[in-house]
Amino acid sequence: KSGVVERGAEYIGLKAKNPVVRALDDVSLSVSQGEVVGIVGESGCGKSTLGRVVAGLLQASEGSVLFRGKRLDEMTDKDAEDARLQVQMIFQDPSSSLNPRQRVREIIGAAPLHHGLTTAWELDGYVSQQMERCGLDPSTSTRFPHQFSGGQRQRIGIARALAVQPDMLICDESVAALDVSIQAQILNLFLDLREHLDLTYMFISHDLSVVEHISDRVVVMYLGRVVEEAPVGELFSHPNHPYTRALLQGRPSLDPVQRLFSAIEGEIPSPLSPPTGCHFHPRCPFAMERCRTERPELRSVGAHHTSACHLND
Ligand code: SF4
Ligand code: MG
Repeated sequence: KSGVVERGAEYIGLKAKNPVVRALDDVSLSVSQGEVVGIVGESGCGKSTLGRVVAGLLQASEGSVLFRGKRLDEMTDKDAEDARLQVQMIFQDPSSSLNPRQRVREIIGAAPLHHGLTTAWELDGYVSQQMERCGLDPSTSTRFPHQFSGGQRQRIGIARALAVQPDMLICDESVAALDVSIQAQILNLFLDLREHLDLTYMFISHDLSVVEHISDRVVVMYLGRVVEEAPVGELFSHPNHPYTRALLQGRPSLDPVQRLFSAIEGEIPSPLSPPTGCHFHPRCPFAMERCRTERPELRSVGAHHTSACHLND
């Protein structure tokens, strides 16, 4: 029952003349059908790059993406295109991802028409169905994006993605630009859609509350590496990695007993020259000598719970 698997991807992100940013460093992740996997971390941790590699918008320089057990790069073009269609991306800013000169009807209808999922005769009904499912009034299908609110525009973006009948949505900061009350509505829409369409999600966010609300499993990233992974309840009740604990610490509502040290010290180091050993060592209050030189591997610290920290030895 595998969904999308990404193994050992090492993506060469930015090539500024000589320096090469390793935006993802030996990241391996599998997502099961129907699962919501939250990817969390500060900006620059590689979470967006990971989403884009899985969505096929970026090519990893090493490693591969598997869909239902098959490597995308070994499929025929036709099969790869079909697989790509099954994984759709929802971006942060619906305004910039919707063509301002297209009516909603074209925005939502163009791709399913192109891929033969509907016909010109049935298009209006098909578009109406997509709109209703996402909480939009179908009678507004002849309007342009600017005639909608931010929350409604995000619903249009979601309707457009769902119109090609995908199995999986990759949501990259998809509620970050919205007011908190609208955020909750859109998150609930994602959860409703999941139930009705058996959707799988990769949910990328810097916002722990958002990730906690929506995810079954959470992956914490730091400077291109996965540092911790656990079921959502386990991660939030028993965080293992000092970085995860610091992230949780930064949240206002946390139990004071768990306050081991105050908000994360220091800036995020540049991904151009990440620290040696454990990337987190310059900011970690528990750093030991070996943390400077030796990369900690992910290892099991509980049921379905892995963490990459030398403290677990
Ligand atoms: Fe801190 Fe060392 Fe663990 Fe890294 S490996 S998180 S520096 S204790
Ligand atoms: Mg990002």
